[in-house]
Amino acid sequence: MELFIGFDIGGTNLKLGLFDEKLKLLDKDNVANPAGLTAEWLVEHAFQSANTMLTRNGYKLSDLKAAGVGCPGTIDMKNGIIIASPNLPFKQTPLRQMLSTKLGCPCIVENDANAAAWGEYAAGAAKDINDMVFLTLGTGIGGGIISDGMMVRGHSGQAGELGHMIVYPKGRRRCNCGQYGCAEVYASASHTANRANDRLKQGVPQTTLNDVYREKGQVTSKDVFDHAKKGDPFATEIVDGTAEALGLLCINITHFTEPQCVILAGGMIAAGDYLLKKIKEQFKKYVWTMQEQTLDVRFATLGEDAGIYGAGDLAIRQKEQS
Ligand SMILES: [Zn+2]
Repeated sequence: MELFIGFDIGGTNLKLGLFDEKLKLLDKDNVANPAGLTAEWLVEHAFQSANTMLTRNGYKLSDLKAAGVGCPGTIDMKNGIIIASPNLPFKQTPLRQMLSTKLGCPCIVENDANAAAWGEYAAGAAKDINDMVFLTLGTGIGGGIISDGMMVRGHSGQAGELGHMIVYPKGRRRCNCGQYGCAEVYASASHTANRANDRLKQGVPQTTLNDVYREKGQVTSKDVFDHAKKGDPFATEIVDGTAEALGLLCINITHFTEPQCVILAGGMIAAGDYLLKKIKEQFKKYVWTMQEQTLDVRFATLGEDAGIYGAGDLAIRQKEQS
């Protein structure tokens, strides 16, 4: 049997999955990153974790045919170099070469959101389709675009930063990217909560969220959705703002690559059909009137494992090409 490993490097944890050549998950792990993290440490950590996993399944390092890595940051795909990463000690780090030398097999390095998108494409919610866009609603909004079965990476690997599409040019709050009005400052899970907290701080006369705000000092996006579902007008207004930004984002995405579906991932999808229905309503409001267009919005199905599946599948495909 040919074996492949998919790594998903995060700011605090390293996830890894062991796959066979048909992308069947054989084993997985989630290990905390060591303290005093350096690039060398992380490579050593990945190597040790992979070795442990192979050994406990009765395999050796030499059984490994290729490895894939999903990593946050800007990546020079051609050379496998992490140019910069927001939460990791990578700067011009030749991660592909470092890991490949350590593991003794070919490696492929990919942006983490792209890897998660590829996971849903290869084994998750978009398994049956060829054109999809992936949005993960967390602290920010991560994105990945697959068009005609190909990952859209762009000229320098920065395509798919969909959370930074500007939906309200004169909009609220400066985004981490330096601009105003990015979709993520309205519609990510964190910013949905922030929008509610900003208003609650100023005082909203009648909302059941006041009790939560007083008790905890802040509300979460889950609180906002829970109260909206119970009919609270203020919470509903905040949720509608989130849905409108996501609807606008989906319209822009539709005009861009016309995906067959948009896959939503991240903690906020726990809001379920209530959120989906609202996004679809907003989509309908802004879509072309000359041609009936609908959008298939689905929830991701792989959860936290999307990244390892994506990295694993990219490793398998890399092996097939080499
Ligand atoms: Zn931005």
